Amino acid sequence: MVFLIIDNPLVICNKLKQIDMKLERNIEKILRIALEKREENKTFRQLLQKQNANYVDALVNQLNDTIAAQIDCLECGNCCHNIRPIASDKVLINYVEPENIEKYKYSMGFACKNLDGNKCIIYSERYDECRMFPYLYRADFVLRLPGVLQNYEICPIVFNVVEQLKIKILKT
Ligand code: SF4
Ligand code: SF4
Repeated sequence: MVFLIIDNPLVICNKLKQIDMKLERNIEKILRIALEKREENKTFRQLLQKQNANYVDALVNQLNDTIAAQIDCLECGNCCHNIRPIASDKVLINYVEPENIEKYKYSMGFACKNLDGNKCIIYSERYDECRMFPYLYRADFVLRLPGVLQNYEICPIVFNVVEQLKIKILKT
């Protein structure tokens, strides 16, 4: 395998806009593939740590812009159906009924109390965590990769960004 060390991020980011990406949107398939790729992703994390962190952030931002624009969150809704562990009662109360706090404190994948089907009934006043999810605009993507890879299992945007990032950085 040949590792591409790309020294001109702007040129590459501009080229990304022109790429016709085949995106995976099927959440069952994404979870299955994500579980199969756990070892591959550990190796990818080690390789990313050797890249320039600012370059990786720029690439992730560009991929996020391109991919998020092609995925309809209203059709998906998977993050709202798969709340990941929240240890703080103060935050958890936003997502579960008070009587369910203990039950869901360290649970994986429970549905938010504010859902009506795939729709959020408090959408215009939803919490900052919801607005920012899946957090791909945040800096230090490489440092945050363990958390990103948890979201990769449930979020088509994260899944496709990470898979396209692999192609850009690792392609032979
Ligand atoms: S508050 Fe709304 S946007 Fe946030 S997790 Fe619940 S349903 Fe989703
Ligand atoms: S942020 Fe990700 S998991 Fe949440 S609805 Fe959008 S595509 Fe689905």
